[in-house]
Amino acid sequence: MTKNTRKWTNVSTKKEESIMYKENVQSAWHESGAVDKFIWMTAEDDQVCPICADYARGNNEYPLEDLDAMFPAHENCRCWVKPVVNIEKAADEIARILRGE
Ligand SMILES: [Zn+2]
Repeated sequence: MTKNTRKWTNVSTKKEESIMYKENVQSAWHESGAVDKFIWMTAEDDQVCPICADYARGNNEYPLEDLDAMFPAHENCRCWVKPVVNIEKAADEIARILRGE
């Protein structure tokens, strides 16, 4: 394996990990029935790129539908996403569970 191939493989695995992370998050949030927005989180160090810094600025809340297009922002993106819990939907969901439905 050449150095370049190995490098490419690592990048590809990283991207796959990011996509797997996103799919897990999406499915957990969907299952909760209480998340319809998210906040972009960065490592907050000097390696954060301008795209990600912009996404994270001001704790902007993004609709869940935007997650697929936004994440990961680029190769080797180290960011993660935080759910914004819709309290009304969460209460409905808890009530539904308590009713045994
Ligand atoms: Zn990033």
